[in-house]
Amino acid sequence: MDNVFPLPRDLPAAAEPATEIVRQLRAAGHQTLLAGGCVRDLLLGQTPEDFDVATAALPEQVSALFRPTRQVGAQFGVVLVKRRRRWIEVATFRTDGPYLDGRRPVQVTPTDARHDALRRDFTVNGMFLDPLARQVIDYVGGRADLEARVIRAIGEPVARFDEDYLRLLRAVRFAARLGFPIEPATLAAIRSHAPTLAQVAAERVREELERMFLHPARQRAWGWLGDCGLLPYLWPGAGWQAAQIQRIDTLLGRLPAEAPFELTMAILLADRTPDDIERIARDLTLSNEQREMTMWLVAHQVDLDEPARPSLAELKRLMAQPAFAALHRLTAARYEDRPDADVRRNGLDARLRSIAPDTVQPEPFVRGDDLLQRGVAPGPAYKEILDALYTRQLDEVIRSRDEALAALEALLKERNP
Ligand code: ATP
Ligand code: MG
Repeated sequence: MDNVFPLPRDLPAAAEPATEIVRQLRAAGHQTLLAGGCVRDLLLGQTPEDFDVATAALPEQVSALFRPTRQVGAQFGVVLVKRRRRWIEVATFRTDGPYLDGRRPVQVTPTDARHDALRRDFTVNGMFLDPLARQVIDYVGGRADLEARVIRAIGEPVARFDEDYLRLLRAVRFAARLGFPIEPATLAAIRSHAPTLAQVAAERVREELERMFLHPARQRAWGWLGDCGLLPYLWPGAGWQAAQIQRIDTLLGRLPAEAPFELTMAILLADRTPDDIERIARDLTLSNEQREMTMWLVAHQVDLDEPARPSLAELKRLMAQPAFAALHRLTAARYEDRPDADVRRNGLDARLRSIAPDTVQPEPFVRGDDLLQRGVAPGPAYKEILDALYTRQLDEVIRSRDEALAALEALLKERNP
């Protein structure tokens, strides 16, 4: 059979826990294989992130054989099995029943490996591996497409995207990450389905966007989102001007391989109002932390453009924020717009290096109690005075509590002569 061929490499040690599960399920009489992304990555010579197990055993049979397990998606035939501190997905071979609104199958039915391959999304994701015989089992032409370097839907593309609209984004993610083009019929189906993306649950969209933009190939993903006509449907009312799309592409291309998701979102939303960003973040179900960080980055995106301009206190206040490292990366990307990018980068870095870490957020020399003792009642003036003194402390104009108290007396005299 030409759809079975040897894996041309040894299995990495990371495959051992999943292989152990395969061995045990086979010993109990159930056909069991590794499936999906791990087979693809092994054939590409890459190290898979996780090894998924696919088996003829039913979820209750899997649960009975292993401890501990978790029933995450038992209705979809998926059981998690814990091995060496990691949860491994063990999924029963299944066909997906009719789909409801292109979201979730109404029911799934246990089946054999071949039919399980046919319900998967793209040919390169549809192969199995027998880790004991070290043989790949390919019912969908995945090997040929891996060699041709192309993303192709398994089966009839229109029908496959009709079943699950999330596959529109998955195609983009894999095309970007693998650096493969999307095969023409698959691409045409994606383009004609683009508006259906609006019907996908926001959490699923957000998860795909996170995976897409956390990957170093994020600029390519952005290009594919545009090519596929998906940009208007990322969230309700998403509108883009050509110049914005181009600008985002440029900035994403300048980020280092590792960049937080909030930074990429800040680049996407750079010229929207805070109200719009807040609404989009909520529509996309970003966490509060993700939303706040994104909004902070957009609010402060130009603050370091002139590295000599911020005062010491202003710089320290930025440095004290959790997203400062991301702001620093964004700033470096913005500098590349200018002929003197190097000068700016060196200038900023020299300033940052000159600031001792323990002076970034020091304990204030003067506190509310000091003001109360001097008869200042809590209120706007109270906060103003504390802020002004703390700014001078950050600026290192005030260097001790005595100096701070002297400055306080002077301030109070000024206010109440
Ligand atoms: P990654 O390394 O990014 O996790 P992966 O290929 O493992 O890539 P997953 O999202 O973890 O991708 O899914 C595992 C496998 O399950 C896929 O390779 C594919 O065969 C199948 N699959 C996942 N989601 C879908 C879907 N929406 N439609 C069809 N098949 C899917
Ligand atoms: Mg995976």
